[in-house]
Amino acid sequence: MAPRRARTAFVADAMLGSLARKLRALGFDTSYYRSGGDAQLVDLAASEGRVILTSDRGLATLARVKGTPAMLLTGDSDGARLSEVSAAAGPLGISLARGDPLCSLCGGELDRVAKAEVSGQVPPAVQRSHRLFYRCSACGKVYWRGSHWKKLRSLAGRLGQKQLAPYTG
Ligand SMILES: [Zn+2]
Repeated sequence: MAPRRARTAFVADAMLGSLARKLRALGFDTSYYRSGGDAQLVDLAASEGRVILTSDRGLATLARVKGTPAMLLTGDSDGARLSEVSAAAGPLGISLARGDPLCSLCGGELDRVAKAEVSGQVPPAVQRSHRLFYRCSACGKVYWRGSHWKKLRSLAGRLGQKQLAPYTG
C-alpha cells in the first residue's frame, strides 16, 4: 500500500525534465527520474506514493500491471502534456490541488526574502522593479515575479486552474 500523501506528488521519466520543472513551479512535488530501469521507477513511485508521468507506452503499461498510477503523456509540448494530466486526473481519482510553488530546479521550498537580501544576486534592474523575492531553502536560487509569470499562469490554466500563488520563476 503506497503511503498516503496530503497532496498529489509525481515522478517524471527521463524524457519529461522540463515538464517536471514546470510542475514544481506550479506547486507539485515532482521528482525527475534520470536513469535506471522501468521496474525500478515503478517501485520507487509505489514506495513514495508518486504518480508516474511518462511518454513511454511500455512503462505506462508496466505501471498499470503493477497497480501503480501512471499517466501516459503523448503531447508535443509541456502545455499539451499538462492538458493530458488534467484529463487523466479525474478517471484515476487524482487530485490536482496545488501546494505552494516549489523551486523548479530542485523542488525545495521557497522562502520570502527581503529586497535588500537579494542585492548582487539578481540583476539591478530586477531588484529595482520588483518588490517580492523568494529564495529556495535547499539550493538558494532566487525567484521573482518576472516574465515567466504569464507563462506559468497560462500553464496553470491547462490544469483547469486560474489562480497562481505569489511567485515566479
Ligand atoms: Zn532549489
